Amino acid sequence: MKSMLDLVYRILQKYALCDYCLGRQFARILPGVGNKARGEALKVALAMDANLRILMNDREAVNVLKVVAENGMNKHARRLAKSFNCQIDEGKKCDVCGGKLSEENFRRMAEEIIEELRKYEFSNFLVGTSVPAHVKERDDQIKAEFALTFGEEIKSDITRELGKIIEGTMKRPVEFATPDVTILVDIFSGTFTVKPNPVFVKGYYRKLQPNIPQAPWICRKCRGKGCEACGHSGREYPDSISELIGEPALGLFEAIDYKFHAAGREDVNATVLGTGRPFILELKSPRKRLVPLDQLQRAINEHAKNKVEVLCLSYATKKDVRDMKAKSMVASKTYVALVEFDSEVDDEKLREVCERFRNVIINQRTPSRILRRRSDRVRKKLLYFVEAEKKGDRIVEFKIKAQGGLYIKEVINGDGGRTVPNIADVLGTAPINITLSVVEVEG
Ligand SMILES: [Zn+2]
Ligand SMILES: [Zn+2]
Repeated sequence: MKSMLDLVYRILQKYALCDYCLGRQFARILPGVGNKARGEALKVALAMDANLRILMNDREAVNVLKVVAENGMNKHARRLAKSFNCQIDEGKKCDVCGGKLSEENFRRMAEEIIEELRKYEFSNFLVGTSVPAHVKERDDQIKAEFALTFGEEIKSDITRELGKIIEGTMKRPVEFATPDVTILVDIFSGTFTVKPNPVFVKGYYRKLQPNIPQAPWICRKCRGKGCEACGHSGREYPDSISELIGEPALGLFEAIDYKFHAAGREDVNATVLGTGRPFILELKSPRKRLVPLDQLQRAINEHAKNKVEVLCLSYATKKDVRDMKAKSMVASKTYVALVEFDSEVDDEKLREVCERFRNVIINQRTPSRILRRRSDRVRKKLLYFVEAEKKGDRIVEFKIKAQGGLYIKEVINGDGGRTVPNIADVLGTAPINITLSVVEVEG
């Protein structure tokens, strides 16, 4: 290579290139100069060099001027070339982008995007782009043909130019790792989509009544179609915790859908009291993402009154969902169980229960009541303690803390010997009614 200008001349002799598409081939030379300014500078320098040679009576240089005027589409070169009576083909378009990369186009596209973005709450954004295969192929072909290894991808040009205009107008920065909004642009077809990323809200829920499943429970008979057994609702239970919490949030965030994540789940007929169970609500494609959380809490607690209530709400991330799920496999839980036995409970034996059930490993076969849904295996779980308070001759309130995944009703009734050791065996009397509440989930 004799000089950069010589290289530029050889490229433009063969390919018509706009300022962006020429400048981009040299993007890593003198960083900081925009590709448009870089391309224009190269053309101006090449035309000046030609002008100098013409003034020094090198008439061959008129050909260089003609190339810059035609393939470079440079207006100064054009004017000068005409003054030397050159015939200029004025109809050429950039061989790579077909003229789509231009300030007017970027400006127009950005204005349309900004108009759409005004419908959303966001604090940062990212522009992504798709480029038609034939455009990228032509760009790569030129790079290969002239061994140009210091350029950048055409995608970078488009996303940077649009990003700059949007940043400047909306006064919000580009964010690469976790943008609030992603804009996918195709400047070649003039289309784009705005995709708000999900908002995550974490908190704790209390379940004040039994018989509310965590997720909607579809009728077993009709599988949701509606039948006589379910009163044509398609449901085993009318409500679910996820809907009671999700629906009011859906409205406030103007989201199109939501997903409810929780740290484990309780039996459908158990309540959750005390500090509650951790959950994270994921709101998809929200228009609002700065909803005051005390307002959200009020909306949910009003909507779910006497059924479910939420507390300690805060904004969270996708990573928090993964962390919560990983933790809930081992997180301990504390339960309160009100148990009625079929005969009087002996005080001495009750004391023995509290002594023996302290940091003890429970061997638990899959409870017979869920065998239909779960495979039969033995779980070994740690039970930390049992506290007991007699509420009547045959009635005891137990407080039990255990590792996640231990079925507590079976620890009390023994499940026909499938859970060992168990409280019924030690007491020598059988429970006839167990009311279970979760009062704390570690999280
Ligand atoms: Zn171009
Ligand atoms: Zn049904």
